[in-house]
Amino acid sequence: MPQHIAIVGAGLIGRLLAWKLLEKGVTVTLFERGSRDGEGSAARVAAAMLAPYTEVVHAERVVFDWGREALDWWPKALQDLQRLTGITVPIGLSGSIAVAHEQDRSSMQQLRQALQAAVPDHMDKVEELDRAGLDALEPALSEHFHGGLYLREEGYLDNRQLLHALDKAIEKLGGQWREHSPVEDIGPGRVQCDGNAQSFDQVIDCRGIGAKLDLSKLRGVRGEVLWVRAPEVSLSRPVRLMHPRYKLYISPRSDHRYVIGATEIESESMAPVTVRSSLELLSALYTVHSGFAEAVVEESLVHCRPAMPDNLPVVLDEPGLMRVNGLHRHGYLLGPKVVEEALGKLDIAVERRT
Ligand SMILES: Cc1cc2nc3c(=O)[nH]c(=O)nc-3n(C[C@H](O)[C@H](O)[C@H](O)COP(=O)(O)OP(=O)(O)OC[C@H]3O[C@@H](n4cnc5c(N)ncnc54)[C@H](O)[C@@H]3O)c2cc1C
Repeated sequence: MPQHIAIVGAGLIGRLLAWKLLEKGVTVTLFERGSRDGEGSAARVAAAMLAPYTEVVHAERVVFDWGREALDWWPKALQDLQRLTGITVPIGLSGSIAVAHEQDRSSMQQLRQALQAAVPDHMDKVEELDRAGLDALEPALSEHFHGGLYLREEGYLDNRQLLHALDKAIEKLGGQWREHSPVEDIGPGRVQCDGNAQSFDQVIDCRGIGAKLDLSKLRGVRGEVLWVRAPEVSLSRPVRLMHPRYKLYISPRSDHRYVIGATEIESESMAPVTVRSSLELLSALYTVHSGFAEAVVEESLVHCRPAMPDNLPVVLDEPGLMRVNGLHRHGYLLGPKVVEEALGKLDIAVERRT
């Protein structure tokens, strides 16, 4: 294992790798263009749903298999972080619910069929809910829906609290933070920042969409989310509204806050949320529960998901330089597996050299 590693980009993957490398006794310097609170990262904008079932419908089977592993990984990782930093990161793993209005029943049917085709061996974790079943799990939904689909093995975590806990863990383990430090150039064992080139045993590029100029096939997929606070609505699980045009999800946070998302637009624009997207998200939201009418929109956020042509992550390794990227819409779902792969390759790289 190299002794001094520079990680460029402290979003989700950069922080996870820094934490794990510091635990192994490696010296880590973390360069971040934005701030330690995660501002500037897709990780902070994300809804952070852990949704292998609803995601595999539009993705490769590997997203499901790795994603299910993440459902075991996160609770243990969050316990370790809690012990180290004293910070509790809320995580909910009691499933998610998909619902559709009567006129959109076909969308629900399509979801069922797509799940049956993608994960026929796991359909015992997909439960049809009638009104009583829905009422027992999420009473707030039975105002407008007569049933739904319960995806037992899905959940979410509180991404902002996670970024905070990782920040503190890195600090506690002696990681060197360089925030507000945009890196101008990266090479094997070399990082250039503020006009100064610094040498390291190993550089790991975790810049997400910020690595676009060095990774020609990387593209950004714009996503917009709204944070609302709705004191009249109580939902404890992520909810997806199935609709032929709008793909709406609601990811709960503490104190009646919800992350509402997300658009998926093949564009790398970071311009603020458009009126069209707000209207679509908010009008769909209001049809889920009338209490959302009185919700306050606290924030609207935009970022680009970093994606490769096949929408799967990559760990590219050459001597002195590793690039970890392409997490697309699955950073939280696939991050644990990708970090494990990167750490494994670092060990292997060292074995080869010695
Ligand atoms: C709207 C939206 C919703 C999402 N919802 C989910 C979800 O529900 N579940 C899920 O699993 N995933 C979700 N994702 C995906 C997830 O957020 C990403 O896959 C993940 O954040 C990618 O991690 P990363 O570390 O590669 O990139 P990022 O998190 O973007 O981190 C990259 C970091 O590099 C820094 N950086 C860039 N350039 C430089 C430079 N030159 N010098 C120094 N630092 C630099 C950036 O400031 C940033 O902090 C969502 C994403 C979006 C946008």
